[in-house]
Amino acid sequence: MSALSSIARFAPSPTGPLHFGSLVTALASFLDARQRRGQWLVRIEDLDPPREVAGASDQILRQLESHGLCWDGTVLYQSTRLEAYAAALESLLASELVYHCRCNRQRIQSLGGIYDGHCSELQLPSNDCAARLRVNDTRLSFNDQIIGQYQQNLKTELGDFVVRRRDGLFSYQLAVVVDDEFQAISHIMRGADLLDSTPRQIYLQQCLGYKTPDYAHLPLALNAQGQKLSKQNQALELPEGNESEHLWAALHWLQQSPPEQLQRQSVAEILAWGIEHWAVQTVTDHLQDSLAPEGY
Ligand SMILES: [Zn+2]
Repeated sequence: MSALSSIARFAPSPTGPLHFGSLVTALASFLDARQRRGQWLVRIEDLDPPREVAGASDQILRQLESHGLCWDGTVLYQSTRLEAYAAALESLLASELVYHCRCNRQRIQSLGGIYDGHCSELQLPSNDCAARLRVNDTRLSFNDQIIGQYQQNLKTELGDFVVRRRDGLFSYQLAVVVDDEFQAISHIMRGADLLDSTPRQIYLQQCLGYKTPDYAHLPLALNAQGQKLSKQNQALELPEGNESEHLWAALHWLQQSPPEQLQRQSVAEILAWGIEHWAVQTVTDHLQDSLAPEGY
C-alpha cells in the first residue's frame, strides 16, 4: 500500500473527557499515521445516547487540539450516519445473512454468552426483535501488528451476533465496520479491550464485501486496582496547561524512551520527536497492560 493511501482514525465515545488511557491511544495512532505520512481522522462514536455525557464530544476535540493532535478533514459523528447503517442492514437481510430474534435477556443470559440460533429459522418480523447475523463454524484469524496472530471461531465462541438491538439501536460492530469502509480506513490502532470485537468486524466486512484494514491493538493503561482507565472507574481528567507533560508521560508509557529534557519542550516539539522515533515494534516487544503513571 502506498503511503498516500494510508488512512488511520481515532474514534472515541463521548462518555467523558480524554483521560490518560485514551490519550495514549490517540497519540499512538497519530504518530503511527504521521510517520507513514498518512491521514489521521477523528470519528465520534455517539450511537448510544444513554451512555453519553453532554459536552463530552466538544471537550474531547478541544483536548486533542491542545495536545497538538490535529486531525485531517471534518469530524464524523456516528449519530449522522443512521441511514448508512440501515442500508447495510438491509443488504444483509436481503442476502438472508440476518434474521430477527425475540429471545429475552433472561434466555440470552442462560446461554452463557454463546447464542444458540434459537430464532434463526422462525422468520420473525422485525418489530420488537433484535437483528442477528449468521456466523460460520470456521476459524477466523488475522495478524495483529502488536499482538500477532489472533483467532476466533465465531460459531462456537460467540454464536450469531446482534447487529441491531431490540431497542432499535445499531450495534457498535455494524456501525464501526460501515464507517471504516466509508472513511477508507487502512490502519486501525486501538485499545486491546477491542481485540475480541475484531473477528466480528472482519466477518462483517466479508459479508458486506468491504476491505479489511490492518489492525494493531495497544496494551491498556490500568489504575492502581488493575482496572482499565475509564470514566466508570474515575480515571482522572488531564489538567489543562500540562499538555507537554501528558504527552511525554504517554510516550514514556508506550516505551518510546523520550529524552528527559523533551518534557519541558513545546507540544509541537514533542510530537515532532515522537513522529521521528515512533516504533510500534517497541510496543510489541516490551509492553503488556501496565499501570498508568502516578497522578493519572
Ligand atoms: Zn432468539
